Amino acid sequence: MILLGPPGVGKGTQGVLLADVHGMSRIVTGDLLRSARAEGTPLGLEAQRYMDAGELVPDGVMNALVKECLESVPDGRGVVFDGFPRTDVQATALQGTLEELGRAIDHVIVLEAENDVLVRRIAGRRSCPECGCVFNVYSNSAEQEGLCDRDQSPLVHRADDEPETVRRRLEIYHELTEPLIAFYEQSDVSVSYVPGDQAVEDAQSAIRSVILLMTPHDPSEDA
Ligand code: AMP
Repeated sequence: MILLGPPGVGKGTQGVLLADVHGMSRIVTGDLLRSARAEGTPLGLEAQRYMDAGELVPDGVMNALVKECLESVPDGRGVVFDGFPRTDVQATALQGTLEELGRAIDHVIVLEAENDVLVRRIAGRRSCPECGCVFNVYSNSAEQEGLCDRDQSPLVHRADDEPETVRRRLEIYHELTEPLIAFYEQSDVSVSYVPGDQAVEDAQSAIRSVILLMTPHDPSEDA
């Protein structure tokens, strides 16, 4: 399943909840890059300058990273993609990797919100560097201020969540990533749209309804 949408729309929050409920793995490219940076690996060092400027890390690097991750997911276990693919080159590479692995995309969920909602949300965003949970000082605050509800790690405000970088990230989204919606609409994948500017639990139940609706019904399971 691919969660597609602009920065700040809630892909991270919704992805954690969805993966929990369906027992799926998450492939969150932003988190993978942030961990690589924290560990000072060659990938992290290369990614750093792009991330700090709000630019995309080159497709070749991202495709190799995602391929490696996907290969380590056990057969039959579902995957939620958050932050990938972000360009047409990445979308095409993902199709190729999935075919090689005998897998396919079932759903693309497009989360949508206006730029001004996203800018405000990102300003209030606080993330857990350990588990990837995302909170918001305006709308979805942590139970204990500044600490992750799951693992009590101190929450951080990401450097690339500063307003100028956010504007660049939004531009890039509209220019390079948003066209992927048409790419998937033209393929045989189910594409559904969920408003991202609603309460976390409402967006989550909308996503779950969409998945239920689009999942083929097996009558033998009714018995
Ligand atoms: P995110 O946490 O998804 O907003 O990603 C943070 C930053 O990581 C982005 O602004 C990019 O610099 C980089 N990044 C994450 N995913 C990708 C991707 N699929 N392609 C290129 N760059 C990415």
